[in-house]
Amino acid sequence: MDNPSFSEFLSRHVSGPVQKLAIDAGFTCPNRDGRAGRGGCSYCNNHSYSPKYCNSRLSVTEQIQQGKDFFSHKTKSDTRYLAYFQSYSNTYAPLGCLRQLYEEALSASDVVGLVIATRPDCVDMDVLDYLAALNKQVFVHLEIGVESTYDDVLKRINRGHDFACTQQAIRAIAERGLTVGAHLILGLPTVTPERDVDQADQLNELPIDVLKLHQLQILRGTVMAKDFILHQADYSLMTAESYAQLVARFLKRLKPSVALERYVSESPDELLIAPRWGLKPQVVEMLVNKYLKEIC
Ligand code: SF4
Repeated sequence: MDNPSFSEFLSRHVSGPVQKLAIDAGFTCPNRDGRAGRGGCSYCNNHSYSPKYCNSRLSVTEQIQQGKDFFSHKTKSDTRYLAYFQSYSNTYAPLGCLRQLYEEALSASDVVGLVIATRPDCVDMDVLDYLAALNKQVFVHLEIGVESTYDDVLKRINRGHDFACTQQAIRAIAERGLTVGAHLILGLPTVTPERDVDQADQLNELPIDVLKLHQLQILRGTVMAKDFILHQADYSLMTAESYAQLVARFLKRLKPSVALERYVSESPDELLIAPRWGLKPQVVEMLVNKYLKEIC
């Protein structure tokens, strides 16, 4: 596999050691507030991925300082930071409000860029034009929740948008010279391993720079936790070995220019219903690399 790592990708844009600092700026999502639906994505529990130092009651500046303190044991004196607007949909607000939040982050010392996670249906052209202008001075990377390339699956998980919307958003971002990350979940209900692997062909058609892959996790407090009990036949939860084999097959099909940020996610034990592998992400990554060597 020749795909670059995320650090290799970042080193093309920012010199020296870099640390991402997650921020919860108090956004919501259009499939939560009623614009595109209610209840949010059926698998989503934001507590599963928000670091402890993120707190939407604190200002952006305060959260950046908390993040720096949190990582102080492993950062170096020349480490610089990317403000990672992570929780919920981080372009889902009027441009004036977004500008204020992003520019507050960029005014913190040693913050040299932005990573902005959002949904395809929250990619407004005026916001993209603003971010493209900002990208001439600092690094700006957008992370788009693709989750699935199948419309039937997007509907089943209550995303509130279709894949055509994803395609348009990713193309609009790339046309403006901004880099694009995609986030995809493997093992969603009704998706066979073959259909999962076929999604690599769809992503290969898009101007994606970075990919994050996750295994489906059933989390407490989600709509999916109830659906999992009611419709168990639709869920084929993988073992760590079968997931690693699937990822290896997927990566073999993926175009080599896409940098890989992550193959696996780890949710807090108290929130995770299934699958409970009891393995660190690094172990799953080793399995993926083992299977990749076998099939390459
Ligand atoms: S768009 Fe993201 S944050 Fe919003 S409900 Fe879906 S997964 Fe959760």
